[in-house]
Amino acid sequence: MTEGSNKSEGIFLGSNRRGALRATLGLAVAAPAMLIAARAVQGAEFSAGTEGKCATCRYWGGKRRIGQGGGTVSADGTGWCNNPASPAYQKETRPDQGAPVWTRWEALDG
Ligand code: SF4
Repeated sequence: MTEGSNKSEGIFLGSNRRGALRATLGLAVAAPAMLIAARAVQGAEFSAGTEGKCATCRYWGGKRRIGQGGGTVSADGTGWCNNPASPAYQKETRPDQGAPVWTRWEALDG
């Protein structure tokens, strides 16, 4: 290895470090924005009587819990729409989305 090749290797590594630093800084800026967006969907709570929303629809495949003695539904993230009659069929929807073909989740009635 010659001195010249070491120098160019040094420049190459330096440029990689700058790239890594840029990527780290970019992630540091992007990560809080991503967390805020996720939090907007996470923990959404609906009255059990809410109509027309995926969170209370029998066809929604998202993660959700019934709370307050059956009075509320809390949902996290997105879920699959399993209603063949819906325009959102086999697509991921947020709990606050909905469709005219919404059907009440029977778990809310018992
Ligand atoms: S898109 Fe409509 S049918 Fe599908 S889960 Fe949501 S409310 Fe139900």
